Amino acid sequence: MAALASWLDARAHGGRWLVRIEDVDTPRCIPGAAQTVLHQLAACGLVPDETPVGQSQRGQHYQAALDHLIATHQTYGCACSRKDIANALAAQGIAHQRHAELIYPGTCRHGLQGRPARAWRFKVVNFEENRPPVQSGCALEALETVAILHWHDRRLGPQSQDVASDAGDFVLQRADGLWAYQLAVVVDDADQHITHIVRGEDLADNTARQILLQRALGLPTPLYLHTPLVLGTNGEKLSKQNGAAAVEVHTPERALSAALHTLGLGQEPEANHTVSDQLAWGVAAWRERYGDAHGSHTSP
Ligand SMILES: [Zn+2]
Repeated sequence: MAALASWLDARAHGGRWLVRIEDVDTPRCIPGAAQTVLHQLAACGLVPDETPVGQSQRGQHYQAALDHLIATHQTYGCACSRKDIANALAAQGIAHQRHAELIYPGTCRHGLQGRPARAWRFKVVNFEENRPPVQSGCALEALETVAILHWHDRRLGPQSQDVASDAGDFVLQRADGLWAYQLAVVVDDADQHITHIVRGEDLADNTARQILLQRALGLPTPLYLHTPLVLGTNGEKLSKQNGAAAVEVHTPERALSAALHTLGLGQEPEANHTVSDQLAWGVAAWRERYGDAHGSHTSP
């Protein structure tokens, strides 16, 4: 679904469509799963314009980015275990909701006190202190906006997040040595010269952290568009676990119709018989809805 949306967006802009295999979380990745997905996409007429890049092969690039952040004091080593973090939050009287992500209280921000570093964390506060003043010249406004990151989503409209309180100093490299999704994605987007990111709405709340990392690394911020998700009857995102049907490679027309419908592009004409008819119609409908003429500008 997000794959179709990003393909339509690339074609509507006369751009190139790249597929990335986000297997940075190596231990949980199933070998061959990426090939299966590429095969299903190809059956729907969606073929990448370049050989897909796998994140598990790109560790040296993530390391270079981390080295830059270390050299510019925008990251710090953290010695805390999950239990340490939970205890520190409890000591501050912050109750922890079951299943909610722990927001790091900043314990190691000013030194490790002799403990060995386990992970690297991005210094969110550092960014806010260094943020240039707003241009209006109003001191009160400057105070109010200093901690809030604003950006524009081409479908969802104006977005904002207080990263320090909503996410805290987030992890760049985990204690087990694995690279965090945020860092890998930002480095890959820049290396692949990605200008338009189209992905599922479940990833929307990563955007602010990724924009902070882009600024910290001196990288451009692409345009973002988050697509609607296909929800199961229980309101959760469809996955193999709750019975999502894998794309049926023998009836790609049906899969495409369903995806075009979910993207809210309007009623497909009866004359759409083949995959290429559907894709051609989809590109025109997408351009009508999300083309640049409709003002999709972001403020970096
Ligand atoms: Zn720590």
